[in-house]
Amino acid sequence: MSASPPPAVAPDAIFDAVVVGGGPGGLSAALWLARYRRKALLVDAGEHRNRWTEQAHGYLGSDPVDPAELLGRARSQLGRYDTAACVQDSVTAIRRSAGDGFTVELTGGTPVAARRIVLATGVRDEFPAVEGFFDHYGASVFHCPSCDGYEARDRRVVVLGWGAQITGFALELLDWAATVTVVTDRESLAAAPADRRSLLDRGVEVVEDRPAGLIGARGALEALEVAGGARLPCDMAFFTIDHAPLTGLAEQLGCRLGPEGFVEVDDCGRTSVEGVYAAGDLTPGLQLVQVAAAKGASAGTACATSLRGAPAVPGAPEPGPDVGAAIDG
Ligand SMILES: Cc1cc2nc3c(=O)[nH]c(=O)nc-3n(C[C@H](O)[C@H](O)[C@H](O)COP(=O)(O)OP(=O)(O)OC[C@H]3O[C@@H](n4cnc5c(N)ncnc54)[C@H](O)[C@@H]3O)c2cc1C
Repeated sequence: MSASPPPAVAPDAIFDAVVVGGGPGGLSAALWLARYRRKALLVDAGEHRNRWTEQAHGYLGSDPVDPAELLGRARSQLGRYDTAACVQDSVTAIRRSAGDGFTVELTGGTPVAARRIVLATGVRDEFPAVEGFFDHYGASVFHCPSCDGYEARDRRVVVLGWGAQITGFALELLDWAATVTVVTDRESLAAAPADRRSLLDRGVEVVEDRPAGLIGARGALEALEVAGGARLPCDMAFFTIDHAPLTGLAEQLGCRLGPEGFVEVDDCGRTSVEGVYAAGDLTPGLQLVQVAAAKGASAGTACATSLRGAPAVPGAPEPGPDVGAAIDG
């Protein structure tokens, strides 16, 4: 997670907030908690979603940027705030403790206490079973047209997938690609006849065969080989299968999930459970670094200001007055 060893968390430590997940969503929430001088612990298992790629695109002022470098910079900037700490660990459970706080269990130590929780655990992607997939993932193989479509401009693109979403996905890539070929993993494409027609009308070839292997060196994809033996020349591949939000902790806490399984939040990142906030890909909406960071900023500031009027926890400075109470009274 960082070059320096993570600070040990004292067994009796109590935090204003524990942030679970150290991708752009969690780091941004922790930063804003720290700027409000709240004592925050960020716990991160270190498997941020875009760790497979060397370049994340479209982040304002850092386009492109190595995601590991961006997160490393954010962690070291967080380190300048004396009320914030990061540890590389996994949170295994969170439960309500006496009063309105929480007990947070980590794999690597005794539980810690927190007044608030921010969940930014992200999603888990499902990958196609194609030989050589991880040799090319993040270099020539991607799942997100918004993130990496521009890099596919004027190039030959193969799309791996078969579900109902495949038509829209393949057609979207025509915004950039010179050619798009859909390779199904099934006997036939699960698309309505009208969808199949719109693909063909726009010159998208459909190959109903199983993708078997990716040919070429990392960053220099040459072709996709299908089970029937044919080689389809291509420069990039995109896939669309599925991804699942990592909602285990949110469900333990009783947070309401939306119809697609993401954690429901309001504009401030508040979940349906008092004192629990969520941000990033775990919540509904666009899945981009900049959006995750923005949602983290909303959740972090809302979480910090929800603590107005609460006395300082050990190790944090005395807070200012509760603005609302001062004005009312
Ligand atoms: C290949 C690829 C390329 C991409 N390219 C781009 C791009 O070019 N531009 C762009 O804007 N977006 C891109 N994205 C999307 C971007 O990565 C995500 O939108 C962004 O990472 C979401 O941030 P997050 O903080 O919500 O989640 P993540 O970045 O996934 O971070 C979640 C963190 O939580 C940790 N965690 C999970 N559970 C626990 C637990 N129980 N305890 C402790 N830690 C836990 C994980 O280990 C992980 O480190 C790309 C994604 C992929 C997969």
